[in-house]
Amino acid sequence: SDQRVYNFSAGPSMLPLSALERAGSEITNYRGSGMSVMEMSHRSKVFIQIFEETQEKLRRIMNVPQGYKILFLQTGASGQFSMIPLNLIGKTGKADYAVTGNFSNLAYKEAQKYGQIHLAASSEDRDHSYIPAQSQLKLDPEASYFYYCANNTIYGTEWQYVPDTGSVPLVCDMSSDILSMPVDVSKFGLIYAGAQKNMAPAGLTVVIIKEELAGHELPYTPLIMNYKTMIDKDSMYNTPPCWCIYMLGLTLDWVEENGGLAGMEKLKWQRANMLYDTLDNSKLFRCHGEKGSRSGMNVTFRTGSEELDAKFVSQAAQAGFVNLKGHRKTGGMRASIYNAMPVEGVEKLCDFIKAFDKAN
Ligand code: PMP
Repeated sequence: SDQRVYNFSAGPSMLPLSALERAGSEITNYRGSGMSVMEMSHRSKVFIQIFEETQEKLRRIMNVPQGYKILFLQTGASGQFSMIPLNLIGKTGKADYAVTGNFSNLAYKEAQKYGQIHLAASSEDRDHSYIPAQSQLKLDPEASYFYYCANNTIYGTEWQYVPDTGSVPLVCDMSSDILSMPVDVSKFGLIYAGAQKNMAPAGLTVVIIKEELAGHELPYTPLIMNYKTMIDKDSMYNTPPCWCIYMLGLTLDWVEENGGLAGMEKLKWQRANMLYDTLDNSKLFRCHGEKGSRSGMNVTFRTGSEELDAKFVSQAAQAGFVNLKGHRKTGGMRASIYNAMPVEGVEKLCDFIKAFDKAN
């Protein structure tokens, strides 16, 4: 059927329909070039224009200051778990990590290969259902950087503040909430995000780095994982993920047409609050994220009965709400409601939840 579903996948996930339609209309012949963006040399004039425009759009929308470089890499977000310590830990040999979920834990473990890693905060004691407060962060003033993950995709929590670490550079994994709110980039040393949630198809990793932090890599840092290589070559040391960069450009057009990051933030909490209210007011469902720490992007919830959870997921899918099954680590349900999820999709899901709550 050619009917699109409401896709609540955690990533890869929904992209704006207008971006997909635009890509579709240009897929065999990009604006008179006689070829698809997929078929173009990354050094061609027409692709360089796409590349530069996409960089400029992202700089404008995120208000990225001078002195910061935007990189389009292919490492996957997970590649950054290695690339960050390889490039940044050399300053003092030490780094602070906040572990608030699966991906920050993976980053924390990987970093231990490269230096002295200090656990600055952890939410493991309550199954990653909350974000530690600023006063709970145990900060080492000698850390080369402080690492955290802004939105915990699996557990459904999100930092509601930017940590204050004094002069220690902030490094942040924004894979699952980038472009969902305005961010003061000048507070960060490095921001990164895998593209496959709020930006583009999988295959692109965006890194925004304060340029002065690059160039101090450990001596055995692979060339391809050296930020300095990529800064000097403007992400074109090797072939960049051309198609994903083009798609990011189309997504950014949609973001701008919909009020930029302030517009995205408004829609984000409109969707999320509606869903949390519905779940909080139900008799069957409990949310995993504690109030004050809840994610505006990934809403995690369960009934307490695995059987009933499975029934919910399968009946929802039949009704056109797909990919609501929680991550295998947590069980239960997860509704990922990224930028491209229409408010209407969440409204209809809330109606479905209310009806299920009544009937069971
Ligand atoms: N960080 C976060 C917050 C994520 O959600 C994910 C993937 N879901 C990753 C890192 C890993 O991303 P990738 O698969 O691109 O390596």
